This record gives sequence, C-alpha cells and structure tokens, in this order.
Amino acid sequence: MSTLPQKSQLVVIGAGPGGYSAAFRAAELGLEVTLIDPEINPGGVCLYRGCIPSKALLHVAKLVTEAEESAAIGVTFGNPQLDIDKIRAWKNGVIETLTGGLGGKATKLKLSYVRGTARFKDQQTLVVTTSAGEESELAFEQAILATGSRPVMLPGVETGKRIIDSSGALELEDVPKTLLVVGGGYIGLELGSAYAALGSKVSVVEMTSGLLPGCDRDLVSVLKRRLDKKFEQMLLNTKVAELKVQKNGVTVTFETQKGESSSKRFDKVLIAIGRRPNHENLGLENTAVKVSDKGFVEVDGQQRTAVPHIFAIGDLAGEPMLAHKAYAEAHVAAAVAAGRKAVFDPRAIPAVVFTDPEIAWCGLTETAAREQKLKVKTAKLPWRSNGRTLTLGRDDGITKLIVDAENDRLLGVGLAGPGAGELIAEAVLALEMAATGEDLRSSIHPHPTLSETIFEAAQMLFKA
Ligand code: NAD
Repeated sequence: MSTLPQKSQLVVIGAGPGGYSAAFRAAELGLEVTLIDPEINPGGVCLYRGCIPSKALLHVAKLVTEAEESAAIGVTFGNPQLDIDKIRAWKNGVIETLTGGLGGKATKLKLSYVRGTARFKDQQTLVVTTSAGEESELAFEQAILATGSRPVMLPGVETGKRIIDSSGALELEDVPKTLLVVGGGYIGLELGSAYAALGSKVSVVEMTSGLLPGCDRDLVSVLKRRLDKKFEQMLLNTKVAELKVQKNGVTVTFETQKGESSSKRFDKVLIAIGRRPNHENLGLENTAVKVSDKGFVEVDGQQRTAVPHIFAIGDLAGEPMLAHKAYAEAHVAAAVAAGRKAVFDPRAIPAVVFTDPEIAWCGLTETAAREQKLKVKTAKLPWRSNGRTLTLGRDDGITKLIVDAENDRLLGVGLAGPGAGELIAEAVLALEMAATGEDLRSSIHPHPTLSETIFEAAQMLFKA
C-alpha cells in the first residue's frame, strides 16, 4: 500500500476488474494514478467474492460429476471424499495468487494504491478515509468511478449463518444438507450447481416462468433438462412470502402465482435475486454526476458522467453487470482521460453462465429478433451429431446462429453445452469483424472439436 498523495492527475475509486484495468491502462499511458479500494490488493468482487472463487468451486463440481458419470462409460471410482477445509484453502490460494499478482503490477506501474474509501467533497476534491481510519483530502484532475455492485436482498431479510448471499456461499463455511436458492439467474444456478455436486440437496425458487431471463428458451431447456436431475426441486412462478430463521434451519413459505401457499424447512437459504450498483456513499450529491432511477451513474460513449472530468465504468455504469464489459469500458475511460480518442461501442458483449452445461450467447438473441420483427435466418445444430461431444460422454448441447436474411451478416450466436463459454469467443470476433454465415462455413475449423458445431451450423444456413 502507498501513502496517500495530496493531489493526483487521475483517481480511480474501486479496484475491481473495471477499476484496476482503468488504473493500469492510465498508468501505462503516462498518467500519474491513485487507485483507492478497501481490500489489501486490487481484485474487487470478481476476484475476492465472485467470478474466480465461483469458478474454483465449479471446477470441484466438474471433477465430482465427471467421476460419478464416468461409470456409464466403464470407468468407476469410489465415492469422492471431499475435504471442505482443503477445498476452501485451495480456492483462497487461487484468490491470493491472483490478487497478489495485481498488487505487484500496481507497484510495478508505480501507481499509488491506497487502502480505504473515498467520497466527493466537491467536483475537484475527495475525502479519503484510509483503512487505518485516517481522513485526508485528495485534489484530483480527473476521476474514474468503479465501485461496482452488491447483492440485492429480499425486503426485511438480513444475511447471517442460515441466510446467505453469493459472498457467504463462496466462503464455503460448510455444505448444508439442504439448500434453497432464491433466484434462478446466473448466480443461483452456478452456485446451486456447485453445492449440489458437493452434496447439498438443492432447490431453486424463481418468481418468473423460466430460468435465466434474457436468454433464449431453447438454450435454457438444454440446461434445465440436466438441472432437473441434479436439483431436488425447481419451483417456477413462485415467490418467497416469508423466511423464518429457527434454531435448526429456515422455514420458508412459498407463494405461487395462483396464490397457493406452502412451507418447507431448509438448512440454508441463498439469496441470488440480482445485484444493485454502489452509487451511495460516494458523495455524488456534492457533484453534478447524474444517477438513473435504477441507481446507475449515467455516462456517454466515452464513459464520461455529466461532469466531463469524472468517468464511470463497470457495474456502476449500467447493465450488463459483467467483468469483461467493465474491462472494455475501463480501457475507453483510461484512454479518454489520457487524451486519446476512444469510444465504447461493442457489437457483442458475450454472456456466459458457467453451469453444466454452460450457456453462452452474444449479439442478437432469437427472442429479440422476433420481438423486433427482423428478417432473420436461424440455424440450430444439436450437438449429438458432433463427434467430439459423443467422445466426451455427452449428447446434450446446441449451437444456434442468427443471420440477417437479406445479406447473410451474422447477428447473434447462442450456445449451450460443455465448454460453451470458451467457444463463444469465436462468435464475438465474428460479430466484431462483421462476418457472414458464408465466412463461418468457409473457415476451416479443427477436427474433432466442439467448435465444428459453429461450422456445421453455418452450413445449415445454405441449401447448397
Ligand atoms: P440475475 O438477474 O441473473 O437473476 C436473478 C433472478 O432472480 C431472476 O431470474 C429473477 O427473476 C429472480 N428473482 C428476483 N426476485 C425474486 C424473488 N423475490 N423470488 C424469486 N426469484 C426472484 O441475478 P443474479 O443471479 O443475482 O446475478 C447478478 C448479476 O451478476 C447478473 O445479472 C450478472 O450480471 C452477474 N453475474 C454474472 C455471472 C457470469 O458472468 N457468469 C455470474 C454471476 C453473476
């Protein structure tokens, strides 16, 4: 950690994927940078309490599941022996390695990394409270706000030993015998899958009619078919009316859309009903920075807020709340702050749900194409026709391409299947390069790989 300077050319508040990327890039571009965050090293929610620890747990889940399922192809292991303390230590080690590496990079780039929090006194001055409790003023020329988001809670509910949010679930304190996940979105399904593989009986309650709102239903069906076997119960169109914490668990009262009510006891309840941006506690009222009704800081294409020398990026600056969107916005804000020309104007921001199977999509969804009454052609290839899928002992998965019916331009790609999250990168590049269906079918894909499903789906777009 550095000592707090009295003035700074650029201050970045928040050191998650958005904040640390912006700070590093700005330092590389020659700005003198101060990066402020309460944690000992940069990393933010993504590294400490989000993407990385959840992927570590999902890796454990993959090992357990593959070992269980391999009996079907003639390889039998004994029951897995799970040493939760060792798994937790390994996961924490991954986090320490990555965050430590970012701390080292901050030092190498000679930026001032200050442990603490900051709030605006006025549009040119911040009041910084360091983790040691010291308060001092910091004058700045430009600032980038990257304070991220936090889990939404059910009204009147507080987290504790029995009711947890994603951060609590990722601490892996224990593996509850029964776990209710409230919310069938990214976090609920990823963490629900991890705990199910670790041995919990997992139930999911989702208030809408389907899982993963915003994702095409045919992709979701591939996942749901498998989750129906892995999870105890999947309650759709159902809300949680009451949570009663008791000595031996939490009694949950459900209420269906039809008004029917029922109760059940769970050892733990994980609330994963969305995230909200951290715009409070920044002293934005002392600036002319505008905040939308949903709590996002309003920005233009250069990530500038209503105050041109104050930028906002990442979850704080709007949906989708994804680390890779934050990285991209960070590079724009840093470049603009350093006097370069840059704009945030992506054709595709990929979304990946790291369940088993994974779901990934980018560009236009088929649902959106229909809603917008666009003239599109779609090709949908089931993975059971792909050799590599079968050699993995799987037969689930689909690849879907959506192209403009008039000019064959690729508009969107959807994937469901093991490894879909890696495969989607090709689709992002294709969309950014304005590729056509013809481009995809004339590019030689390696055999035998899952990537051939993109090539084969492209062939389906043509009669000859
Ligand atoms: P989400 O928006 O993905 O899903 C929340 C779900 O909860 C929705 O399906 C919603 O209908 C449901 N819901 C809301 N209120 C409810 C209630 N009272 N009872 C039952 N269901 C209710 O939110 P999330 O899963 O909390 O994740 C938050 C954000 O974090 C995501 O939008 C995503 O941007 C990000 N994230 C991304 C990844 C990834 O990239 N793999 C992983 C985790 C989180």
